[in-house]
Amino acid sequence: MNPTGAVAAASCHEEVVSVDGVSFSYQQKNVLTEVSFGVKERDFVGLIGSNGAGKSTLLKLIVGLLKPTKGEVRLFGKPLSRFKEWDRIGYVPQKNALNPLFPATVHEVVMSGLYGRGMLFKRIGKQELAKGQDAMRAMDIEDLAGKRIGQLSGGQQQRVFLARALINNPSLLILDEPTVGIDAETQESFFHMLRHMHQHHNMTFLMVSHDMEMIRGYLGQEPASKAGKLNFYVRHSHETQDCVEDNLAHSLSGLRQRMESGKRG
Ligand SMILES: [Zn+2]
Ligand SMILES: [Zn+2]
Repeated sequence: MNPTGAVAAASCHEEVVSVDGVSFSYQQKNVLTEVSFGVKERDFVGLIGSNGAGKSTLLKLIVGLLKPTKGEVRLFGKPLSRFKEWDRIGYVPQKNALNPLFPATVHEVVMSGLYGRGMLFKRIGKQELAKGQDAMRAMDIEDLAGKRIGQLSGGQQQRVFLARALINNPSLLILDEPTVGIDAETQESFFHMLRHMHQHHNMTFLMVSHDMEMIRGYLGQEPASKAGKLNFYVRHSHETQDCVEDNLAHSLSGLRQRMESGKRG
């Protein structure tokens, strides 16, 4: 038996996100100063920090919505300016108030996750529709497909944006406080799905959260690294068996069965 197998495998992973000496200032105020950290393939990184620590700013710098004042961000080894494979990344920004008159339907918003940046129009075929169905089923919003997004509750809207981020089955999922405003039951199934996708589907995560119970419960008691007021909690998943299912909704079937049998009992 080779006891070093798992450790050796961990060291050969690609760095999916590389943040190298990144600073950002806004209106002459330093929001981030010389932040460096990396996310490796199959890591689950939980980012914790006080208000104003620059967590959301850091995520926006990583997905290219903001430009660093100093330093460099690389995705899958490529500098942001040359990175094009946006369909490998799902990003859910912090919940923001939507115009209640926003006319798109739930189905349209979820499907819009298929179009990468710079791809304005793409034919929607059977395969794409099936991906949309699967993502909506996984977030339990199939019944809402025809509703206008602006008519939904905050928690329902958030589930729509999660389904939108998941539709491409991304290799990297970046989440900014994804469960704020979501009821406890949905939170539980959402985290259940994240853990399953992390352990059995080679998905990598970078998540900002205030939910210390979830973070410590899954990622451990102490941060693996710190940068200024930012704390990075990390769990790497490698040894577990990979799952062959290729849809998202299956990851919840076990949990649903358990919950239903619990209700019956
Ligand atoms: Zn590994
Ligand atoms: Zn699976």
